[in-house]
Amino acid sequence: MKAIVFTEKNKITYKDIKTPELEKEQVLIAVRASGLCHTDLEVLKGNYGSSAFPVVPGHEYAGTVEQIGDEVTKIKVGDNVVVDPNIECGYCLSCQNNNAHLCKTLGAYGVTVNGGFARYSLVHQNALHDIGDLPFHIAALAEPLGCALNGVGAIKAGDSNNALIFGAGPMGLLFALAAKDKGAKKITFVDVNPDRLTLAESMGFNSVHSSGENLANLNKEFDLVVDATGLIKVAEKLINFVCDGGKIMHLGVCPEDAKMEISPFEIFRRQLTIAGSHSLNHHNIIEALATIHNCIPELEKIVTHKLNAKDIATYMQDGVPKDSLKIQAVWDN
Ligand SMILES: [Zn+2]
Ligand SMILES: [Zn+2]
Repeated sequence: MKAIVFTEKNKITYKDIKTPELEKEQVLIAVRASGLCHTDLEVLKGNYGSSAFPVVPGHEYAGTVEQIGDEVTKIKVGDNVVVDPNIECGYCLSCQNNNAHLCKTLGAYGVTVNGGFARYSLVHQNALHDIGDLPFHIAALAEPLGCALNGVGAIKAGDSNNALIFGAGPMGLLFALAAKDKGAKKITFVDVNPDRLTLAESMGFNSVHSSGENLANLNKEFDLVVDATGLIKVAEKLINFVCDGGKIMHLGVCPEDAKMEISPFEIFRRQLTIAGSHSLNHHNIIEALATIHNCIPELEKIVTHKLNAKDIATYMQDGVPKDSLKIQAVWDN
């Protein structure tokens, strides 16, 4: 079968590999849609450990069950499913505390085990969720939307009356849709790209251009401020926009060695809450599948490119187009 393979650090190939063979509780999925994510590029750079190579990337994918192992009871051939990619140890303190996504030895399909940028993918039955008649490209957003919902839950974003999100990229938009679905009232986006702001407005959100004077006038105006850019210069300024008693969420992935200065006195005196969000917990994918049904027209706008896997390999190598949001590899059957 054809697959994108990271053969070693910074090395991508698109080639024929052996179709995996079924074992007891495993399921062979014919992949139908598989999303490209910043994490794939981090895996390629070796930032998730070198032991994973060679690996087929892709952790945001949906497809149809092609074959099932002898001991599979939860899924049948022909079911349409989405993959919950995280694989935890089940024993460490994070796992005991129901934070499987923070497991000390966390693995994932598409990161430490072959994932979704291939014609077929072998997945344990417990990692699969039925998607009914949802279109595959929409169902493949359940994983990133689940990550957004993990962040929404961590900071109770649904309680927000007036939120500000820096970065109208896929994660910022998914966070906003998830927060809105949980009850958040007014959400405003800040971005450098006017097209992205127009898109955010078309989904019912407000917008402010990052270079305008308007942004400077918004100090302490928001009860929730979110970074979805991963830029340290943005992350360190969030505190200026949050009101006293407000909350800050670090959703964007800043460089691992980046540092910011923050005043503990200010956090104390203004009673601020600062939270982070990493990946998704198992319940978030179930929650995402419920949320998806409430925002399909908006999600359609987030999937900007549906390509064949070979083109995805090229984008991984050369960079993604400037006007793209979520890029997916799709197979017709
Ligand atoms: Zn991802
Ligand atoms: Zn664990």
